Amino acid sequence: MLNDCHNVVVVTHVSADGDAIGSSLAMAEYLKKRGKAVRVIVPNYFPDFLRWMSGADRIIQFDRNRAQAKMYIECADLIICLDINEPARLDDMATVVVKSTARKLMIDHHLQPQRFCNLTISHPEASSTCELVFRLLYGIGGIVQLTKAGAEDIYAGMCTDTGKFTYNANDPDIYIILSELLRKGIDKDRINRLIYNNYTEARFRLLGYILSEKLQVFPELHASMFTLTRSELGKFRYLKGDTEGVVNMPLEIRGMKLSMYLREDTEKPRILVSLRSVDDFPANRMAAEFFGGGGHLNAAGGNLSCSMTEAVEIAHKALEAYQPLLIK
Ligand code: 5GP
Ligand code: MN
Repeated sequence: MLNDCHNVVVVTHVSADGDAIGSSLAMAEYLKKRGKAVRVIVPNYFPDFLRWMSGADRIIQFDRNRAQAKMYIECADLIICLDINEPARLDDMATVVVKSTARKLMIDHHLQPQRFCNLTISHPEASSTCELVFRLLYGIGGIVQLTKAGAEDIYAGMCTDTGKFTYNANDPDIYIILSELLRKGIDKDRINRLIYNNYTEARFRLLGYILSEKLQVFPELHASMFTLTRSELGKFRYLKGDTEGVVNMPLEIRGMKLSMYLREDTEKPRILVSLRSVDDFPANRMAAEFFGGGGHLNAAGGNLSCSMTEAVEIAHKALEAYQPLLIK
């Protein structure tokens, strides 16, 4: 499929994260190197801390450039869907992509992939989609064409999807891949700074506000929860992505198994839910059962069309239902 294509569109999930943007740009870099015309199209805004990546400024945002994005999708002969397991993750872009006559290739690490692509490469055991892109390129002899910029993209996705290699990161191959990326000349210390030491003052103070004012801890349940409303987010001049990763922090409290984060979406009238867990606590099952979502065992999410008060009630019901697993 990668040989037999001319106009390629790479797409990834709504509210793209480091793995989504990293895998998309790495794939685009590789295909451009092979002389293909490639566009990366994302459903909506993606966070500023990913914009240092080479090519990020050429990413097309579907919700802002619908006509142009639709044209590229309709004219493509290959669409590569990265870091998504179902069209719904493409949000408003889903219909155009599904309807397109282009051949489709999915590369992803989420559970239960839907079969909407001609070829589905799905490995839920992988740390990240970036890892899978690396493995694919390696398998087809494409590492020679992987540029330093492409290696930076792959590193960024592997790093962010594993919390700097602190979870989902026990596969020894990961470190062989890292070693290959470093051989491409990437400065991983600099990339870590660009991604993590990149807070605005407002964002940093929002973190303090969450930890001191908003975090509720339920010690007997080994669980915690925090919520943020639109007005709270506004007070700290919230930009999308500003609370990325914060949901992991309560897991640093001794004995914690589950962290829940509920926030009012700034785009649509709904509550976005993020869950993080450790060991075998199934955050994805809880997300599916209570929050209309899904995800990975230890990192899952969903959304609710209700008020924050109602959402918090649902969260408490979820805690109650999972009490036996939490207290053990
Ligand atoms: P986050 O908490 O970073 O928004 O999402 C963590 C993970 O949960 C994502 O990588 C994705 O697998 C899953 N996830 C988040 N929101 C949703 C959702 O609305 N539906 C589904 N199916 N999965 C979601
Ligand atoms: Mn991912």
